[in-house]
Amino acid sequence: MSLRDTIIAQITAQGPMRLDDYISTCLLHPTAGYYTTRPPFGKQGDFITAPEISQMFGELIGLALAQSWLDQGAPARFALLELGPGRGTLIADILRATKAVKGFHEAAQITLMEASPALRAEQAATLAGHTPAWIDTIEALPELPVFAVANEFFDALPIRQFVRDGDRWRERQVGVQDGTLVFGLGPAQSQPALAARLDDTKDGDMVEDCPSAAPILSTLAARIASHAGAALVFDYGDWRSLGDTLQAVQNHATTDPLTAPGMADLTAHVDFEALFAAATPLATCSRITPQGVFLERLGITARAQALAENLSGEALDTHIAAHRRLTHPQEMGNLFKTFGIVPHGAPMLPGLET
Ligand code: SAH
Repeated sequence: MSLRDTIIAQITAQGPMRLDDYISTCLLHPTAGYYTTRPPFGKQGDFITAPEISQMFGELIGLALAQSWLDQGAPARFALLELGPGRGTLIADILRATKAVKGFHEAAQITLMEASPALRAEQAATLAGHTPAWIDTIEALPELPVFAVANEFFDALPIRQFVRDGDRWRERQVGVQDGTLVFGLGPAQSQPALAARLDDTKDGDMVEDCPSAAPILSTLAARIASHAGAALVFDYGDWRSLGDTLQAVQNHATTDPLTAPGMADLTAHVDFEALFAAATPLATCSRITPQGVFLERLGITARAQALAENLSGEALDTHIAAHRRLTHPQEMGNLFKTFGIVPHGAPMLPGLET
């Protein structure tokens, strides 16, 4: 039975499915989920992420985290955490770039929060020679200072969508009509969590909510506040979500989110305001900064020039294109944003001080 048939059978038996349940089934179904069945990243996959574009991304993040570790007194043991590590490329680049930072590797307990067994296996292969530990939930973080990175993790978490109807909201659901999956709207209900959105929306507007994002980030921020540490979050999105940002991508092209469950990546824009609200009471957040600006401040151009000296021909062209892709405002430079989290009173991560 295909995942599509499984979902149709479930909806037929139990009624319309909430969008977040649909998304998590599509992405993480144990045998037919998108992340559980395929390596989705890289040139052969459906999409390419910053660490897969160039090693420079992870190198600069590694050095930024190591600087923050030094700034906070170089704690003798800490969790070096990545949320949603994909193929393990970013954490591997972080480790390579920080090899020369005295004591950093000895102090680091590499900790990976990853839901997909197939990707865990790939991460283990990428990190051969290291001894990472995997966790299922953020609550399982060891009781240690934590220096963390999340790249394109929050956009992969399931969202709910609500359409405004007077002072109430109708939730978008997945139903079945004539044997196919279709979107529909549930009954109008009041949503206390969306009370503030009555001020900036009008009838018919759609807003999104990512129920699992804030608890993950507030747990991480609390750990940073109580034990020391820092986090760097990269993703695409805006300060406050408005409108339908659910996107399905297959073979580097957008597709309908309902046509091929489990075969396409499903993501949504990240609502940075919600992430901020979850972290700021507990720890200090930097401004939201465009990825391109952050990487330039950390010296990506100098690093790109140094790497270019050993390249020629096609490899040099690819390298120049990768630098541009990561930083240029019309490529990933502006669409992707970053912000840092440190304990109240600690120095902000390099590149995010202002
Ligand atoms: N950071 C990587 C991969 C981004 S894709 C990169 O930049 O290339 C999203 C990653 O998050 C995948 O590894 C996916 O399996 C993982 N993921 C998605 N939902 C998750 C969840 N609820 N808990 C843990 N990992 C999750």
